[in-house]
Amino acid sequence: MRCLALDIGGTKIASAIVTNSNIKNRRQVATPTTNVAVEMHNTIAEIMAYYAGQFDAVVVASTGIINNGILTALNPKNLGGLADFPLKNSIAQHTDKPIGLLNDVQAAVCAEYKEQDQNKIKNFVFITVSTGVGGGIILDGELSTGPNGVVGHIGHTLADPNGPICGCGRRGCVEAIAAGRAIEAVSSQWTPPCSPKEAFELFRKGDEKAIALIRRSASAIANLIADMAIGLDIQKVSLGGSVGLAEGYLPLVKEYLSTMPTFYQCEVESAVHGGDAGLIGAAYWIEKQLTKNLL
Ligand SMILES: [Zn+2]
Repeated sequence: MRCLALDIGGTKIASAIVTNSNIKNRRQVATPTTNVAVEMHNTIAEIMAYYAGQFDAVVVASTGIINNGILTALNPKNLGGLADFPLKNSIAQHTDKPIGLLNDVQAAVCAEYKEQDQNKIKNFVFITVSTGVGGGIILDGELSTGPNGVVGHIGHTLADPNGPICGCGRRGCVEAIAAGRAIEAVSSQWTPPCSPKEAFELFRKGDEKAIALIRRSASAIANLIADMAIGLDIQKVSLGGSVGLAEGYLPLVKEYLSTMPTFYQCEVESAVHGGDAGLIGAAYWIEKQLTKNLL
């Protein structure tokens, strides 16, 4: 099956024809920043015209939440003019092929799950620790999205009731403690101020304040993994994102996890897919859905 896959991010929209995880004809354009809703309709029209006749289905991996075909977010202000954008309708104006929509982390977990032994691993989670913290959840071998598309927003579970206020409005979310932005909130106050990347360099050089900061993040992620393992019987976790993949981070997460009772522990490994995880995972998901007549 030839899937036209789109990956809509905050700054770029990638598109490609994906067949059996092979990416062809990849393109990338900037996400509209002015007159956003109108420009988004125009960008989609241009993409659909460019790939006309080359695909059997369309699938989108998008930032935010896809609620019944409409783009939204926990904090819709983050989407600017794209809040409540009717993504499915915008695409459907240009094709009568099947259309599937996921958020980008839900797509990424599908890409990572594709690489697993699916006879053994039925419950699987992908966690990205990057600017924010997000997740995708596979239960009984199937991606879980939920009636409102919210499933996987595990970065907004509680890490510390006395922690900082999170961008979602709640106090003490995992994201407010573990994410790159949370690391930066602290390291930018140091003398001299440091970026998260520089904080990691200091951490690897043995700087005490950097070690404490990175450990605080890794401990929150280890607790999140433990909560997933005990709440959902998760067998394996794939960890990605710029913080999640930073040298020295995964061993810390494993160290914290290893101190917990056995039932809270599960296997954790680094994510294998890079920037095209959204395109590959979304295409893999829609092909599975169509094979089972679920779309
Ligand atoms: Zn939050």
